Amino acid sequence: MKKRLCRNFSCGKELPVHLTSAYHCNKECYKQAKKIRQKKVDDLIKAFRKGIYSNYKLFEELLPYSGRCIIDITEARVKGFDEHAYYGTLKDPSNNIWYTVGNYHFYIKDNTPSKLLTIYKK
Ligand SMILES: [Zn+2]
Repeated sequence: MKKRLCRNFSCGKELPVHLTSAYHCNKECYKQAKKIRQKKVDDLIKAFRKGIYSNYKLFEELLPYSGRCIIDITEARVKGFDEHAYYGTLKDPSNNIWYTVGNYHFYIKDNTPSKLLTIYKK
């Protein structure tokens, strides 16, 4: 029979044979594993929040009203821009992909040697 190990990775002991349907040796291990899982999710959400918030703050500063704003991406990064922090995408008629952060959309154009960030607000 295949060895089954406790899913509490800080324990990792082999599960007793009689615990055929269990994933943990006991309640403590179950709780510990749950805590570790929850911490991972919390850290992920925290990082996501931080990125989104940083982008939103920058966009509000650069473009408080409706319209369009173009900025060099290097300059935007210095001001806290994170191109991976968004939560939706749109395609415009020219097939450019726009990323969504609240009521803002941004688009990155390769304008070698640099890249340009376009921010749009309805
Ligand atoms: Zn255990």
